[in-house]
Amino acid sequence: MNTLDPMQDGKSFVTLISSMGDDLTVVNAARVSMDKRSTQLCDRDISLIRYLAEHDHWTPFSHVMLTFHIKMPLFVARQWFKHTVGFTRNEVSRRYVDTPPDIWIPHVLRRRAYTIKQGSGAEMDDAQELLHTFSSNADQSLEDYEYLLEMGVCPEQARSVLPQGMYTEFYETASLSGYARLCKLRIEGHAQEEARLYASAIDSMLVSVVPESWSVLRGRS
Ligand SMILES: Cc1cc2nc3c(=O)[nH]c(=O)nc-3n(C[C@H](O)[C@H](O)[C@H](O)COP(=O)(O)OP(=O)(O)OC[C@H]3O[C@@H](n4cnc5c(N)ncnc54)[C@H](O)[C@@H]3O)c2cc1C
Repeated sequence: MNTLDPMQDGKSFVTLISSMGDDLTVVNAARVSMDKRSTQLCDRDISLIRYLAEHDHWTPFSHVMLTFHIKMPLFVARQWFKHTVGFTRNEVSRRYVDTPPDIWIPHVLRRRAYTIKQGSGAEMDDAQELLHTFSSNADQSLEDYEYLLEMGVCPEQARSVLPQGMYTEFYETASLSGYARLCKLRIEGHAQEEARLYASAIDSMLVSVVPESWSVLRGRS
């Protein structure tokens, strides 16, 4: 499972490009302080991983590094990029790339929730007409974008007519500790549903990379 499509629209993706290290890396980063080393993960090592996570010894987890290629709507990326410490990113530049971008169109709409400051309420019934507003807005934006380019406007200015729902893509490298923090903050109920889908995709991929570490880190850091 190296690629997931969090938005389930055939456009979005989270692809695990590479990972460096595993559960044993975490264990040995911690055991070096006692001048010890494990060659095969045993029950004592698993207990150690649990102890490290429970006592916020985050540095041994930061020796596992992950690189993802992610394609997400701009408005989700804007939230995602708030996670800064330990994250490195390189993003497609719309100063150079002037092909029409993919644009996210929701499958369902959620009601505004008047009882909470952030978030949304129940799914709307019969939202077909409202969903059409999203696609017609996307079509119009793309048309305007193409028109401006055709008229000789530079891509770096023409892009400003594109909507927040347009997809952007980037490479992102961070440590396991970084992803533990990001997933904790972006999977919990206050995070926006669309950001939660991406964090959940990363969450489910990390289970197979570092099963023991991730089982204790998820929801903790
Ligand atoms: C549900 C939700 C709603 C949000 N709403 C908003 C919003 O309305 N507006 C907005 O701007 N942001 C908002 N954010 C973003 C939020 O404020 C954080 O910027 C974001 O969650 C990243 O947190 P982080 O701990 O991963 O930060 P990172 O920047 O990755 O930092 C990691 C950790 O390093 C430490 N650290 C980092 N910088 C410093 C520093 N300068 N001094 C001391 N310690 C530091 C902190 O312990 C921090 O937790 C929201 C986040 C969530 C999850």
